[in-house]
Amino acid sequence: MFNRSRRNLARWFTLSMGSILVLFAGVIYQIEIEDKLEALDRLLYDKTRVMAASVHYEIRQDQSQVDLSHVPLLGSGSHPLAEDLIYVRWYNAQGRLVRFFGVSPPDKLNTSLGYLTVQSTDLLLKEEIWLRQATLPVEGRTGTLGYLQVATPLMETQQELQQLQMVLTLTVPITLGLIALTGWILSGFAMQPIRQAYQQLQRFTADASHELRSPISAILTNAQLGLLITANDSPYHPPLENIVDSAKSMGTLVNNLLLLARHQGQLAPESLKLINLNDLLGSLVTQFTPLAEQQSINLTYEQPEQLIDLWADPDLLRQAIENLLNNACKYTPAGGTILVRLVSHPGWTVIQVIDTGIGIPETDLPYVFDRFYRVDTQRSQDSGGFGLGLAIAQQIVQAHRGRVYATSEVSKGSKFQIELPLKPDQ
Ligand code: ADP
Repeated sequence: MFNRSRRNLARWFTLSMGSILVLFAGVIYQIEIEDKLEALDRLLYDKTRVMAASVHYEIRQDQSQVDLSHVPLLGSGSHPLAEDLIYVRWYNAQGRLVRFFGVSPPDKLNTSLGYLTVQSTDLLLKEEIWLRQATLPVEGRTGTLGYLQVATPLMETQQELQQLQMVLTLTVPITLGLIALTGWILSGFAMQPIRQAYQQLQRFTADASHELRSPISAILTNAQLGLLITANDSPYHPPLENIVDSAKSMGTLVNNLLLLARHQGQLAPESLKLINLNDLLGSLVTQFTPLAEQQSINLTYEQPEQLIDLWADPDLLRQAIENLLNNACKYTPAGGTILVRLVSHPGWTVIQVIDTGIGIPETDLPYVFDRFYRVDTQRSQDSGGFGLGLAIAQQIVQAHRGRVYATSEVSKGSKFQIELPLKPDQ
């Protein structure tokens, strides 16, 4: 129980911290991309400004005559910018291509102004590459002279981003592992006070139940003695009978609580004995047969041909199956059937108690193994139950490293199944 809570705490801690970490890594990556693109855009802007400064023009009849012969890469001068730029294009004020350097461009300006990431063919490598492109207007005195479009390769930026991606892909899982370890250690610390409080509660329940046993048995003995010496028609007879019934019921409750408090967790190896399940179930069926006959219920037992031996605490295991059989008898009306079935599997075994009783509603089924849970208080009170029988059965089965579960259909019946390993340490 505590280990499951500890695992859950550690899991949620890792999940929440892991999500924050992954989000953080994503944001860092995004910021890095934006920073790099901004740096490239600044570079493109500076280069465009140098080129724009070399554009000469004169105004003739209110029209600007543009001279591009001094523009680096487009004109005939030296080309110190060629290393960084894949292409340079000049479009006139109407957006028509006038001159270009690099890959053959479209005749008309077909992209929006500003900065864009585009794909283009590398003339040397003859393959598609990613570029950062700037398309900026060049203004003259009479208005826009034309548009300069320049592009620089993104290869270096891509490589840098890939490196960052690799670093993040390596560090994120390592950090996640460290977070999981921290979560496990922290949840261990967090569980300590809860474990102590639970152990104290268990001790208190065990001590209180133990101390209550003697006064209850004294009440029961005295009331039974009173019944013996009182005549049947005496007015003291009914109250004494009530005292006997209540004392018996309190005795059962106290014994059940003591059982739950004492047998928490795994069983001590010395309490385990090699028992024969066929015989144990056979004797339980024999024990319940008179009760079943009295209620006109047909109780049958099905067992495999081979004998099934199992390491278990015989008294506790008997108690667990007894609780299931008791319930089957309590909740099966006259004319119904109860089948006790033993099934063998390699390494483990299955015990089934199947009845054709009143069944359990689907909404209650997940809770029937909880302590003090009763499906319908009326029907359980009528049958004298406290809602502890299944909790005890489950605790005993779990102490044997097994599991118990129920399937049921209202008005059709219920099936309780215990699955046990043949050796509790396997
Ligand atoms: P109780 O002592 O009240 O029977 P249990 O823990 O044994 O408590 O069972 C819990 C509840 O599950 C009961 O209130 C009962 O309504 C339901 N239940 C258990 N076994 C059966 C069964 N075989 N058929 C129908 N209902 C069952």
